[in-house]
Amino acid sequence: MNKHFDVIIVGAGAAGLLCAMEAGRRGRRVLVLEKAGRAGNKIRISGGGKSNFTNLYVSPDNYLSANPHFCKSALARYTPWDFMDLLSRHGLSWEERDHGQLFCEQGATAIVDLLLTECSAAKVDFAYDCEVQEISHRSQYQVNTSRGMFSSSSLVIATGGPSIPRMGSTDFGLRVARQFGLKSIPFKPALVPFTFPPGFLGRMLKPLAGVSLDAGVSCNGRHFREQLLFTHRGLSGPVILQISSYWNKGEPITIDLLPDLDAADWLKAEQGAHGKRQLKTILGEKLPRRLAALLCEQPFNDQPLQNLSFRHLEEIGAILNGWQLQPSGTEGMRTAEVATGGVDTNELSSRTMEAKKQPGLYFIGETVDVTGHLGGFNFQWAWASGWSAGQVV
Ligand SMILES: Cc1cc2nc3c(=O)[nH]c(=O)nc-3n(C[C@H](O)[C@H](O)[C@H](O)COP(=O)(O)OP(=O)(O)OC[C@H]3O[C@@H](n4cnc5c(N)ncnc54)[C@H](O)[C@@H]3O)c2cc1C
Repeated sequence: MNKHFDVIIVGAGAAGLLCAMEAGRRGRRVLVLEKAGRAGNKIRISGGGKSNFTNLYVSPDNYLSANPHFCKSALARYTPWDFMDLLSRHGLSWEERDHGQLFCEQGATAIVDLLLTECSAAKVDFAYDCEVQEISHRSQYQVNTSRGMFSSSSLVIATGGPSIPRMGSTDFGLRVARQFGLKSIPFKPALVPFTFPPGFLGRMLKPLAGVSLDAGVSCNGRHFREQLLFTHRGLSGPVILQISSYWNKGEPITIDLLPDLDAADWLKAEQGAHGKRQLKTILGEKLPRRLAALLCEQPFNDQPLQNLSFRHLEEIGAILNGWQLQPSGTEGMRTAEVATGGVDTNELSSRTMEAKKQPGLYFIGETVDVTGHLGGFNFQWAWASGWSAGQVV
C-alpha cells in the first residue's frame, strides 16, 4: 500500500466513515486506519441491532457540552434528513418509534455496508487490525501504526470515547489532543445505569427486579420522562440513562412515580370515596403491584385510607411525586453507552472541526466534548461532525 495520503482518518466508526466518504467524493486520497478487524462495531450493536441512527427532533438542546453553541453549525448543515436521503438512495427504510427515534428496518449492519459501499465508490483505502500508536508532525502528519508508518497532509481523529472498553474503546483522542497542546474535558460515563448502597439495593430494588413503569426523573435542573426499570444491580431504563448524563457523584435524583397525577390530591379524593380500602390496593391501581406492595412495607405502612390524616396523605403524595434517592454511583464505562467530555470545543472550529492551533488536525464524533441524549442523537452528531470535516480535509 502507498504510504502517503491526502487524508488519514483514525477510526472506522460512524464519524470516521462519514468523513471518509465525503472526503473521498471530493477526490481526496483517503486512508482509514482501524484497530479492529472490521468497520463500525458500535453501529453494528446499536439500537438492539436495528441502530437508532438518528432522531426527527434533533436540536442543540439534546446535547451536553461545556459550550452548548458549538454543535449548532454542524447539526444545521448535516441534518437527519440528509442521512435519511442517503439511506433511501441505498434502498434502506426505517421505522419511527417514540420521541422521533428512527431505526433501520434492514438492521444496523446494513448501515455499515452502505457506508462502506460509499467509501469504496469514493476510492477510500482501509487498513484494519491497524492500531495507531504514535503521531508526529513536521511538514506532514507521520502516523506510526501496528502495520507500519503512513503520512498525510490532514489527520482526522475519529477514535470515539472510552465506553465499553471490552470493544477496544480508549481515550486515544484525548491523548492526541494533549500531545498537541489542546485542552480537553475528562471523559465520564453517560447514558449508564445507577448503582445503590447494598442495604437499599437489597431492600428496595432487587425485590423489584424486572418491574418497569413510566416515570419522571429530575437532577440538576434537568427532567426526563420515559420508562424506568428496576434491576438486580440498581436502576436502569431510558429515563435513568438520560438523567445519568447530568448526575454528579454525591447528588440525589428525584423520581416522580405518578407523573400524570398530583398524588396527594388523588389519595384525598380516594379517601373520600373509598375510605375502607387499603393504601396498597389503591396504589396498585396506578403503580405496578409489586412496587405498590413494597412501598406499603416501607416507607409507607399499609392500612385503610380512612386511618390516614390529610398530613399523612400529603407526606405519602410527596414521596410518590418526588421520591429522592441517592445513587452510590453508576455502572461506569463498562456499560455506559457514551461518555461526556472530550476535546474542549474552544480548541476547534465549529464549522470544520479543525484544531485552531494545529492546522490539518481534526477531531470528530464522540472524541469531541459534545454528547447526545439517548435516542439517535449521538449518531447524528457523529454523521454531522464527520460530514463537516469531510468537506474541508
Ligand atoms: C451498546 C451501544 C449502543 C448504542 N446505540 C446507539 C444508538 O442506537 N443510537 C445512537 O445515536 N448512539 C448509540 N450509541 C452511541 C454511538 O455508538 C456512539 O456515539 C458512536 O459510535 C460514536 O461514533 P464515533 O465514530 O465517534 O466513535 P466509534 O463508533 O466508537 O468509532 C471509533 C473507532 O475508532 C477505533 N479506534 C480507537 N482507537 C484507535 C486507534 N488507536 N487506532 C485505530 N483505531 C482506533 C475503534 O476501534 C472504533 O472503531 C451506542 C453505543 C453503545 C456502546
